[in-house]
Amino acid sequence: MKFIYKQNKLDYRMEEKLGTLLTLANGRFSIRGELELIPSRYGIFVSNVYDYAPVYYREIVNLPRPIGVYIIVNGEPLVFSKEAKYHIERILDINKGVLSTKITWERGGKKVLYESTRIVHKKNKFLAGLRFKIKTMGFNGKLTIISPIELDKTNPSFPEHVTIRHYKVLDKVDSKQGVGVIVETHDKKYRVGIASLLRPSGRNDFERIFIETGNVVGESIILDVNDGDEHVFTKYISVVRNIDVDNVLENALNVLVDALDKGWNTVYEEHVEAWESIWREIDLSIEGDPYAEKLLKFNAFHLLQLVDDEKDYIMIPARGLHGIGYRGHVFWDTDIYTLPFYTLIVGKAGRLVLNYRCNLLGKAIEYARSLGYNGARFPWECADDGYEAAPNEIPLDVLGKEKIPIYTGIEEEHITADIAFAVDYYYNATGDDYFMERCGLKIIFESARYWASRVKMKNGFYVLEKVMGPDEYHGHVNNSFYTNILVKKNMDLAIRYYYASRRKKKWLQVVRELGITLNEVNLWKEIRDKIYIPCNKDGFCEEFEGYMELKDYVIEDECFGEQCVPREILNRVEETKLVKQADVVAAMFILYDEFKKDVIRKNFEYYVKRTTHASSLSLPFYAGLAARLGLIDLAYKYFIRAAETDLNDIYGNTEHGFHVGAAGGVWYAFLHGFLGITLKNGEIKSIEPRLPDHWKRVSLNIIVGGNKKKVVVENKENVIHV
Ligand code: BGC
Repeated sequence: MKFIYKQNKLDYRMEEKLGTLLTLANGRFSIRGELELIPSRYGIFVSNVYDYAPVYYREIVNLPRPIGVYIIVNGEPLVFSKEAKYHIERILDINKGVLSTKITWERGGKKVLYESTRIVHKKNKFLAGLRFKIKTMGFNGKLTIISPIELDKTNPSFPEHVTIRHYKVLDKVDSKQGVGVIVETHDKKYRVGIASLLRPSGRNDFERIFIETGNVVGESIILDVNDGDEHVFTKYISVVRNIDVDNVLENALNVLVDALDKGWNTVYEEHVEAWESIWREIDLSIEGDPYAEKLLKFNAFHLLQLVDDEKDYIMIPARGLHGIGYRGHVFWDTDIYTLPFYTLIVGKAGRLVLNYRCNLLGKAIEYARSLGYNGARFPWECADDGYEAAPNEIPLDVLGKEKIPIYTGIEEEHITADIAFAVDYYYNATGDDYFMERCGLKIIFESARYWASRVKMKNGFYVLEKVMGPDEYHGHVNNSFYTNILVKKNMDLAIRYYYASRRKKKWLQVVRELGITLNEVNLWKEIRDKIYIPCNKDGFCEEFEGYMELKDYVIEDECFGEQCVPREILNRVEETKLVKQADVVAAMFILYDEFKKDVIRKNFEYYVKRTTHASSLSLPFYAGLAARLGLIDLAYKYFIRAAETDLNDIYGNTEHGFHVGAAGGVWYAFLHGFLGITLKNGEIKSIEPRLPDHWKRVSLNIIVGGNKKKVVVENKENVIHV
């Protein structure tokens, strides 16, 4: 399955958008898709490598760029200037995980045909490669290829053009095995070895020059060429973190030697085979709608690129390893939106995603304590160290005189209940007792303890004041429906798992270890039963207490996004009933079975007219819930639009990274909305499909209870095979 981009003109904005769409990654590190023949402000992103940053606390580090290849033909640099005539075609083949580039370039009688194949190795987590062929025409003379590791990569700060280089260069080497550097981040001293090796195929008569300047270490190869000759080069790149091994540079250089020994064909085939076997396992097809199938696969491809199955945890930033959007922070997007994909489609990855939270549970306990509460409170935005990474304010001017306060970190407490929900989701899908005894139960109990100390009793109800639900238009609200209903769920889970632990020895040990008493469980029950849920007797739920008193604004049908709303309204959006993203609707989708259908429908119909979908997380859950409600045309429209989030750059910010939560949400809507799969104790509980008419037959494999199951839904007869 291929995604093709053709250009006769290079445009830097477009290049950065393609940079995200054509990112290749293997869960350990990523190389964005910008053309290797031109400079880029992006280097590589390495999972878990963050550094202190003003305002954002910590950010993913834009590390040196090893992918660049600069060509000089007979003294003239191959640049894409006005004087040159060129055509560029890039093809992302998601079946193989390969990015191919074809360029024809002409200037002053010289002509070059360039074809490259790029991979970031799916199996060898330290390796990337670029194979390229250059055909030179219209001259005899010298062909020079410069292959640098560019050490000037920085992160933008405030204002944007003030940049921070988050690493220092500890060493640069030139050896027979290639060139390399060790860089080290400032505060946590993460070390990354980056090395590269460029070799022409089938020629020994080349000149090689080692390049070392302040900001570059690299090599340059010079060949004598004749008119019409073709030259093939291979560039291997290796990236090694000290998180995995010591001696990062030595190891990086060894990776290159191993690759060279194996040869490109083997390296390439091993990579392609790894991808092809993943797709064979998933085996998705939607007969009657190849476009929807393609969109699902495109989103899956980028989610799959974040999976590092060789580690015992995976960090999934909101914009993936694809850009510096949200500074590489991890949000509820990961736990709520992506978990179904990682659990049901990739199997093992679900546990690894949750293990990231497990590793940081101690910090969540510390966080709760620092605020005067019990239990564990997870940070709204999280980087590599488990502390709250959401900014408190964003400066508007260089001197920081004017600042916008940001309340999300303080108030979007729902993340804690979201993570408890995610643990239960995972257990229902897998029946993984071992995960629960090792960590899952602790998350559920410690989060319940947090809420028990956080809620207050008022007028006979437990209330939660000064919070923000998913709808970030409205802060400091009391009794947010989404937050309270998830807290209720969190309490219920704690109670249920507490009683379940009586039947499982190892679980009981956890209960004892945490010193959970019956009194405590009784308090959880009371909170579950008496937490204030702002719904009226007809089942209509206001998003938070007092929401119904706000100014109404109804969005016209067929209009999407904030552009549907006049600027003057948006400027004071907090005074209106407008909702940024699925909020009540999100809760009713993920907790579908806990509400009556007519209640869900009533709320859906109300909020659908008032939601701007200004967050990419919105449409997927609207799609999913519409599907459950049988509003199939609407569901399909939302689904396709959500699935096109990055492909069509719907939010105008694809350049900053891939919208991971939206991609996960699209799969959530597909699996639990259209296919209507429900899970319990590591088994499929039910399948109640509601497919668009033209989806004749849907089939795919899902992993439930550790076993692969083929799900086939034939639309016409509504036949389901599992
Ligand atoms: C959304 C949040 C989301 C974050 C990261 C925000 O715009 O409102 O719900 O977690 O983006 O994707």
